[in-house]
Amino acid sequence: MARVRVFGAGECGLPLARRLLDGGVPVTLVADRTAEQVLNGSVTSTQVKFPRTLDLETAAGMGTWRETAPQILGIRFHLAVDAALVTTWTAPFSRPAQSVDQRTALSHRMTEFVSAGGDLRITELSAAEADRHAGDYDLTVVTRASKDLAACFPADAAHPMPDRPMRRMLAVYLDGVAPDPDGMGAYVALPGLGEAVTTPCLVGAPGQERRADNIMFAALPGGELDVFDEARTPAARLDLIRALIVKYLPPELADRFRDVELTDAGATLAGGVTPAVREPVGVLPSGAAVLGGADVVCRMDPGGAQGANNAVYCGFRYAEAILATPEGPFDREWMRATAQPWLTEIAHPAAEWTISMLDPSPRMQELLLTAGQNPAVAAAFAETFVHPATMSDLVAGQMS
Ligand SMILES: Cc1cc2nc3c(=O)[nH]c(=O)nc-3n(C[C@H](O)[C@H](O)[C@H](O)COP(=O)(O)OP(=O)(O)OC[C@H]3O[C@@H](n4cnc5c(N)ncnc54)[C@H](O)[C@@H]3O)c2cc1C
Repeated sequence: MARVRVFGAGECGLPLARRLLDGGVPVTLVADRTAEQVLNGSVTSTQVKFPRTLDLETAAGMGTWRETAPQILGIRFHLAVDAALVTTWTAPFSRPAQSVDQRTALSHRMTEFVSAGGDLRITELSAAEADRHAGDYDLTVVTRASKDLAACFPADAAHPMPDRPMRRMLAVYLDGVAPDPDGMGAYVALPGLGEAVTTPCLVGAPGQERRADNIMFAALPGGELDVFDEARTPAARLDLIRALIVKYLPPELADRFRDVELTDAGATLAGGVTPAVREPVGVLPSGAAVLGGADVVCRMDPGGAQGANNAVYCGFRYAEAILATPEGPFDREWMRATAQPWLTEIAHPAAEWTISMLDPSPRMQELLLTAGQNPAVAAAFAETFVHPATMSDLVAGQMS
């Protein structure tokens, strides 16, 4: 039986390694942080997952929080200028989405992997480390990488991406937010400034989880809202978020945040994500080929809420392919053939959809306004979060 090594214990690497372990394939999972460090660290995402993703996890026995995480029943869309509401509408998802703090979910899955007999090693995820033990494995899958390891995967010239973040963001996790009356997540378009997104979520150490909410402000770089660098401590970020909510959000939404506190000292995250689409086959300095997945190959701005979903799909698709031919050979041809369906069906459409959300064409803007008068359009729009590949059909159908 071939031996597989998975770099990265995240949304992609953990389900991949777990599926292989359960399927009897010898697998080593390599992470750069222990479960304890992940749990006690800072938040890394807001990770809304849509029902197709949750179904994959549940079917594989990884649906730990399916019954307990708050349900996000749809989208409450607002367009606001200077905190005044220009338009608003709601649209249900066909089935609920959910968000579980990655600190809770990933630390729990790492612990479970080890309890189930999995081989977990903690070390840096560098090209040198990948090369050092490459000969001990028949296949290495890289789902998280340091800069030099990521650079082993060439950019995909067929999918050029912006070379800098499209948004600067500040995300915080809060206690004390009054729930949306209809169980919706809110998406606020702030023309010329950026967006704000808020959803309920589950936080806390495994066994002590509780409901909370997160909110992310996303600013056009250099614009009026791009003020997040000014706040460096959790307390300063909380003060800033409170001020931004009052200044920019429509009162009906801002009122829900009157009495909020951070969930914990690690509850804030600021920065920006540079999108990237890379070739799925990387070549290490030694010449050995490795298969890339998730953010390493297709990284998107958080504003489209696609990256974690994309990563989970990738993990399951790769696991299926390995389990189908557990003896290999896992050569470059196999790697390309394995990555292609994930890339064309899931990753590339999600990346394109994310760009069209952040840089909406006139057609897309018209669609968002039309949705206010046409619930069918609103529902179809909400569903594009679940199936990003349907966006182009929706835009074409709506405007023709
Ligand atoms: C603010 C924000 C909000 C997001 N919201 C969503 C969303 O709603 N829905 C969605 O589908 N995707 C969302 N994403 C994207 C999603 O979190 C990633 O695409 C996904 O986790 C990638 O999975 P992976 O397996 O490639 O990486 P993972 O291994 O799962 O990485 C998990 C997170 O940990 C971070 N990380 C990696 N290494 C370290 C380290 N050493 N120390 C600290 N942090 C580390 C990564 O940058 C990543 O955000 C969001 C990302 C951000 C930054």
